[in-house]
Amino acid sequence: MTKHNFYAGPSILPDYTIEKTAEAVRDFAGTGISLMSISHRSKEFVAVMDEAQSLFKKLLNIPDGYSVLFLGGGASTQFAMVPFNLFSKKAAYLNTGAWSKKAIKEAKNFGEVDVVASSEDATFNYIPKDYKIPEDADYFHITTNNTIYGTEIKNDIDSPVPLVADMSSDILSRPVDISKYVLIYGGAQKNLAPAGVTFVIIRNDILGKVDRKIPTMLNYQTHIDKGSMFNTPPVLPVFAALQTLKWIDGRGGVEKMHEYNQQKAALLYDEIDRNSLFKGTVTNKEDRSIMNICFVMNDGAEDKEKAFLDFATERGMVGIKGHRSVGGFRASTYNALPIESVEALVQCMQDFENHNK
Ligand SMILES: *Cc1c(COP(=O)(O)O)cnc(C)c1O
Repeated sequence: MTKHNFYAGPSILPDYTIEKTAEAVRDFAGTGISLMSISHRSKEFVAVMDEAQSLFKKLLNIPDGYSVLFLGGGASTQFAMVPFNLFSKKAAYLNTGAWSKKAIKEAKNFGEVDVVASSEDATFNYIPKDYKIPEDADYFHITTNNTIYGTEIKNDIDSPVPLVADMSSDILSRPVDISKYVLIYGGAQKNLAPAGVTFVIIRNDILGKVDRKIPTMLNYQTHIDKGSMFNTPPVLPVFAALQTLKWIDGRGGVEKMHEYNQQKAALLYDEIDRNSLFKGTVTNKEDRSIMNICFVMNDGAEDKEKAFLDFATERGMVGIKGHRSVGGFRASTYNALPIESVEALVQCMQDFENHNK
């Protein structure tokens, strides 16, 4: 049976990425050696790192003066690395979910954190709009896509202070005006690569403004100076990331991904709104994520949750159980998810409605 992979992360990758990586695990670039056993200083791997950085820059139209890094440690290490490098007196954060909260917690170790707004009072089911970014903050941090709650900041906001974004789960899903940000980071295991690599896009001139001593590995400057090769990078995930970047490029780039993602999301949200047994958890339509689509059983149908999960699982749906803090269901519709999988889920929801008439 065809499996439809809706996992939130690690999650679906293009078949192209998986096949090319599997080939390279056996014989990397005609070296007769596995990708897992070759030096990261070999000319073959150095070429992979260089191409991954330049293709990332091309696909997102990254202006001159920015670096692209591939690091270890996950997005969670960035929660501390950002303040280590940028926090002098005070930072501002927008609290839109569990990941924002973790970032805020780390920043508080460095001093005053101004949480300008929060949607925690409503289980993070919307994006706060009316807030003021303090002009004396060193930076303003946002989480553009809230993987757990299914909300998304879909436009690049204007900030009077340097803007920092966690884009773990929506990087490369839409065009981004990089010039509005000084730093963008994310774990690659949502929309780019297998777990183990973290991408960082950083404007070089933002560094060097804090007084503290920064541990070598947590200092962005270390990695910029060495082209992301100060120490051994995650070789296999970086290779896989390059394959995904090539796949995106070959399919018309980030604009085309965005069109396709919007189409997929509209299909599923329309069914959630139409189907009498389900309702969306994010009621404000402009805040609905096009990457993680959350829904629950409708009022009066709460007792059918387990039955629907079983029904959908029998029909090949994988990974649709919602995060434990929201319940219900979450379908992640990352770049690599084909629209046929969304159609299959919609069909499944319609069949379930008919079975329960
Ligand atoms: C998954 C996720 C993280 C955590 O990433 P790790 O690489 O596991 O540390 C952080 N932020 C967002 C938005 C995420 O989706």
